[in-house]
Amino acid sequence: MDISIKNYRDFLSERYKNSGMFHATILSGPQSEEKDRIIRAIAASIVCQSTGSVRPCMNCEGCRKAFENIHPDITVIDLLKDKKELTVDQMRVVRSDAFVVPNDGENKVYIINNADKMNTAAQNVLLKTLEEPPRFSYFILCAENPSLLLPTVRSRCALIRFISGQSAAAEEDVENTADRLIDTYLSGDRFSMVSFINSLEKTDRITFGNLSSAVSKKTVSRLKTAEDPNIRKKLLKMFQTFDTVSSYLSLNVGVVHILGLLCAELT
Ligand SMILES: [Zn+2]
Repeated sequence: MDISIKNYRDFLSERYKNSGMFHATILSGPQSEEKDRIIRAIAASIVCQSTGSVRPCMNCEGCRKAFENIHPDITVIDLLKDKKELTVDQMRVVRSDAFVVPNDGENKVYIINNADKMNTAAQNVLLKTLEEPPRFSYFILCAENPSLLLPTVRSRCALIRFISGQSAAAEEDVENTADRLIDTYLSGDRFSMVSFINSLEKTDRITFGNLSSAVSKKTVSRLKTAEDPNIRKKLLKMFQTFDTVSSYLSLNVGVVHILGLLCAELT
């Protein structure tokens, strides 16, 4: 599941409507101000007092206190000064505190920053709490690299991937580029197609891989509705070409060579 600054309220409201927030969540992705805001929003959605369907409502006392960082039922745990790991003592405090009923509302939240810097002993203490959490306690583990957490801890948590606005924009960009590439090919204008392909020369491998799968998906979906036999033929050709592209990418063939293939096949 992906969460971003664009979709977080839909995501959280949907989640709330279905079965409520997960008791334990790992939020992966690099630390940033945007991610901090998402963490706050997840916590707010848990302590939100609204009876409406939108979470967090941003209007109630619970939301206000959550976003002002003064909610008594939201506890943030982070690396202690001069420590490189979260310690077993910190997790023992969380464990005993988690059983104390909330102050303000019905739920309480523990935000564990740098959760991937928790040593094994600390993780095992947390694990005991995650195995039988008090019904009112929720845990958000923020980790740049969740694979550093014990598999037993991971298996107790829902994994949510944080997507920054920048990467969301990059994804949108890839989608647009894929559409424009298909349209240019369908237009039959060879010159435009050659310059389009040339303009992709500085694309990095990961973006190029994303572009390639976007083109494949889009040609398939366009084939479902296209009736003109000429268009269908071209879409099929494009699909087959990008099938070859994806096998080249998996063989580590360089982007420039692949662009050569595209020029040969599609212009
Ligand atoms: Zn609220």
